[in-house]
Amino acid sequence: MAGAACAFAQVAQAADAPAGSASEAAASAMLDDFAGNAGRLRVFLQAMPKGGDLHNHLGGSVYAEDFLKVAAAKGMCADAGITRIVPGPCPAQLQIGPMAQKDPFTYAKLVDAISTRGFQKGIGPVLVSGHSQFFSSFGKFGPAADGEDARWLADAYASAGRNNLVYLELMHNPDTLTGFMVAASDAPLGEAELAAAYKRDLPEVEALLAATSAEVTREEQAARQRLACGTAQADPGCDVAVRYIFSGMRGLPPQVVWRSLLAGFALAHRDPRFVGVNIVMPEDDPVALRDYDLHMAMFRFLEGKYPGVKVTMHAGELALGLVPPRDLESHIGRAVASGARRIGHGVDIAYETAAPETLARMAREGIGVEINLTSNAVILGVEGGVHPLHLYRAMGVPVMLSTDDEGVLRSDMTNEHVRAVQQQGLHYADLKDMARNSLEYAFMPGASLWADRRYAAVVPPCAGGLSSSACKAFLSGSEKARLQAKLEINFDRFEHSLDRFKNGQGAAGD
Ligand SMILES: [Zn+2]
Repeated sequence: MAGAACAFAQVAQAADAPAGSASEAAASAMLDDFAGNAGRLRVFLQAMPKGGDLHNHLGGSVYAEDFLKVAAAKGMCADAGITRIVPGPCPAQLQIGPMAQKDPFTYAKLVDAISTRGFQKGIGPVLVSGHSQFFSSFGKFGPAADGEDARWLADAYASAGRNNLVYLELMHNPDTLTGFMVAASDAPLGEAELAAAYKRDLPEVEALLAATSAEVTREEQAARQRLACGTAQADPGCDVAVRYIFSGMRGLPPQVVWRSLLAGFALAHRDPRFVGVNIVMPEDDPVALRDYDLHMAMFRFLEGKYPGVKVTMHAGELALGLVPPRDLESHIGRAVASGARRIGHGVDIAYETAAPETLARMAREGIGVEINLTSNAVILGVEGGVHPLHLYRAMGVPVMLSTDDEGVLRSDMTNEHVRAVQQQGLHYADLKDMARNSLEYAFMPGASLWADRRYAAVVPPCAGGLSSSACKAFLSGSEKARLQAKLEINFDRFEHSLDRFKNGQGAAGD
């Protein structure tokens, strides 16, 4: 298309320029102007290109109202205390379908019970911490969540499209592997026994991988059908590139954790849609704290067996007061030392005894931090000046914004950007840098569009413009670089259509 070619040329010029362009400066001034006005800021940031969301749990991405819709259709009920979804049958006043129609106040109470609604503004139930309310929500909507992954995938793709993302790296454990994980024995497991456990368990998990991939293919097809992909009515989510991360379960017995990590590495080794492995569940859980070293040993062992599989770890999702100070001393450092290529949250970094060395290593090796502002505020009570976002940036560690659990936390990617501006004081260039980071440090394989980590110049084949034949040949060999080029084009278009945000200009555009 001529328009795209034109934008390619403009972007090439912009990318070669040492400083930001005049249009970028105009966007920057506009954002600063809107920073104190939440409404104008939301409108501006909704339209702003945002790159990728690298930290998004499929199970937590769903809003309570969507779980309740499924529960109503399946004849499910609320328990007598209106605290959770339970299977039917039940008395009429507890049936979710009729309740949604005729009893809005009880329905509202149920939404509050199975999400963190209210906590964002400090009006939630005061007898429960945000931490407990968040983590307990998953068990309360569980019955409605089962067997509906295609629906939740469609919602996650749609949310990414609505928030102007080009890439989504979604944490998703396919059901086919669940039986393998939970069928583990309750025998103890030490680091010295990992090689034997690998030999014992590998054939069993490998026998499940073809069916697992087939499950994901079915779910993806059903999700794309729900979004009318490939038709004139296609949802914007259809255009978002999606990859998955498999999650190990740190709060469970050692044999289960082991099997969950083995399943993740084996699947990511075989199915290119799975680009990495993570570890989830509350980091302050007594079992998770007790076994932290063992889990790191499992990662090191499996990274040795599957060197092509990348690792990101939830680490340092802790705060002073939540756990004794000794538990804040080293989780991030140990995750980095055990092969994490990204860190999820990293909130307690300032409390780590080797913080300067860990930060220096992260900066040197390009180990990024997935920053989840709403999650940290609601679950940990860490926000504003207490949040380590600026510490990471000051030390040269790459950071990127992500949503964590946008459904349970009642947020979305645009809202994370609103928080970054209003509560962290970030400017347009900072947001742009984080959006570029979210693709540069994505686990999507392929060469980068950029020649350096400061995004000052593109790689030599593209120095003559993104539409040059040399650059086209380069882009055709790297989906990652194609996404990066798409983001640059989106930035260019956005920065050339700022009039629509001005007073009384209507929807002029360029
Ligand atoms: Zn998370």
